[in-house]
Amino acid sequence: MMSVLEEKMNRPAFEMLIKRMAPVSLDDGKLYINIPSTISHDYLKEYLEAVEEAASMFTGDRVKIIVMQEEAPEMETAEPARVAPRVEEKKDVSPLKKTAPFLNPRYTFDNFVVGGNNQLPYNAAYAVAEAPGRAYNPLFIYGGPGLGKTHLMQAIGHYVAATKPNLIVEYNTCDSFVTEFLTCVREKRAYDFKNHYLNLDILLIDDIQFLEGKDRTQYEFFQIFNEFYEKKKQIVVTSDRLPKDIPTLEDRLLSRLNWGLVCDIQPPDFETRLLILRKKVEIDRQYVSEEVLDYIAQAVKTDIRHLEGALTRIIAYANFVNREIDLEIAKKLILEMTPDRGSSIISPEEIIKTVANKFNLEPDDISGKRRKKEVVLPRRVAAYLMRELTDLSLQSIGKQLGRDHTTIIYSCEKLEKEMAEDDGLKKIVESLKEELSR
Ligand code: ADP
Ligand code: MG
Repeated sequence: MMSVLEEKMNRPAFEMLIKRMAPVSLDDGKLYINIPSTISHDYLKEYLEAVEEAASMFTGDRVKIIVMQEEAPEMETAEPARVAPRVEEKKDVSPLKKTAPFLNPRYTFDNFVVGGNNQLPYNAAYAVAEAPGRAYNPLFIYGGPGLGKTHLMQAIGHYVAATKPNLIVEYNTCDSFVTEFLTCVREKRAYDFKNHYLNLDILLIDDIQFLEGKDRTQYEFFQIFNEFYEKKKQIVVTSDRLPKDIPTLEDRLLSRLNWGLVCDIQPPDFETRLLILRKKVEIDRQYVSEEVLDYIAQAVKTDIRHLEGALTRIIAYANFVNREIDLEIAKKLILEMTPDRGSSIISPEEIIKTVANKFNLEPDDISGKRRKKEVVLPRRVAAYLMRELTDLSLQSIGKQLGRDHTTIIYSCEKLEKEMAEDDGLKKIVESLKEELSR
């Protein structure tokens, strides 16, 4: 049927119209076809007769074509008689059936806590949002999972949408970018795909590492990239690693990704984690005591997603039992959440207990004010391990050990010297470290 039409029609019409039609079902002499919503009905009418003729030839029966808009329901679920042929042209609507996710309303610059770990990418993202295409192009943000890449990227989207309504900004995950492209290729609508993207002013593609091994999509992205770059339209991408560490990324794409600014988000330090928790509590209008927030910030170090998860869990529990959460319950809940306690949570109490055990002392001996000679070294070891294994500030370590922060600095330096000279001591400290990190 296609070849009959191909012969009969001029090339552009065939490409633009017939190839973009999708037959849905043939029912009682009626052939239902889907067309992209951008095709004008007038344009279609010119060729409808030819299509009907070709279809009739093909089936041997008289066939009537019923045209439906792309999103029309499937035949199994709709009664054919009630499917109104909606063929009016829809202006300004992308021919691409979008599955792209919307922006999360919480992922704004206002809700983003800035710390030493993310200062540079934050500044860069803000600059890009204020002057798209002019500040840094492309902007490449990379970092481990749960550290705020998506949040920052979507913040650009929110900011642009709010301050520059004439610019079309689109956020998409790389995953769905790939799927969209492959679907369009399969449906012979690659043209729609490219058109859609070239119409945008700002393109935000999240988790670009998923382009790995997707040669065709890479090529398509490369072309879109070039167009954007030449027209000074902004591109922002995120990745869980540096461009050069994404295997099978084509060299020329790799080099282009390095043309703009490449910056990373690091895991947040204790202070930033605490600020993030406070911010979240404030946004959610919940009450959680400082003591508990402090504990969560100490305990959950891996990333911000886990940090938020811990807080959410604690708040949910508090609401469930309808009472305020104390430190004891918080500890229990967090412990349950992290079966591999590993390096993610080592509490000062644990360190004191383990060290005391090793030196045949009671925990109180180490944390107390006593100045007995035999507790001096264990206390020094405990201070050192807290420095090494936790994110506690010098002040907090001092508090745990009944000392001020200058003493803690001194203790740590002293122990390092002693370990350098005394292999036996070094082994003891290392075995303690291992035991605690298990
Ligand atoms: P990634 O994309 O790097 O995996 P996300 O952007 O999804 O991480 O962040 C995970 C969660 O942590 C989100 O809920 C996000 O709002 C939150 N988050 C990350 N960084 C910050 C920050 N600096 N301030 C406040 N919330 C943050
Ligand atoms: Mg993400």
